[in-house]
Amino acid sequence: MRDAMPYLRGEVSGKIVAITLDDGYRDNVEQALPILKDLGFSATCYVVSGRVGTQNTWDDEAATVHQPLMDWGQVSEWITEGMEIGAHTRTHARLKLCGRPQIDEEIRGSKEDLEAALGVAITQFAYPYGSWDERVAQATAIAGFEAAVTTDRGRAPVGSSLFALPRLNMKGGRAWRNLLSTCVKWP
Ligand SMILES: [Zn+2]
Repeated sequence: MRDAMPYLRGEVSGKIVAITLDDGYRDNVEQALPILKDLGFSATCYVVSGRVGTQNTWDDEAATVHQPLMDWGQVSEWITEGMEIGAHTRTHARLKLCGRPQIDEEIRGSKEDLEAALGVAITQFAYPYGSWDERVAQATAIAGFEAAVTTDRGRAPVGSSLFALPRLNMKGGRAWRNLLSTCVKWP
């Protein structure tokens, strides 16, 4: 996402793909990282700052199997290997349902946590569950982030709102078909 910003801002022209991963699962560093490095790609991983080193317990309501999350050493390794870390709140909150103080705490707080622990500027944000509205987007901008991604499906042309960037879900067997059909639909 860091490298995509000049394109999104219209300072550089060209067609690019930004690879993003949400939540900071341990298999991002164990499985995705070696593949990304082999292929010469970078990627942005959005981490839940208050859950580093634990599991995705926020998915309790969905009764899914819990997956281990990266610990701080693995998050640091991700950065050392040339990848980027973004913020994804402190607790994986549904921001649209939160009051303003909690929105600020989750968004600004996650930036502060990550910057204090990692010693690098954190400029990218992803809304958990894709839950955002104008209030949430505004709080993200005020907190000092440069851009935020949603779970809305689509491509981001130049001039897109930098705090409501759409994405394509690449989960499962239909991933490549999704990507190809999107590229064909929006030449
Ligand atoms: Zn998430």
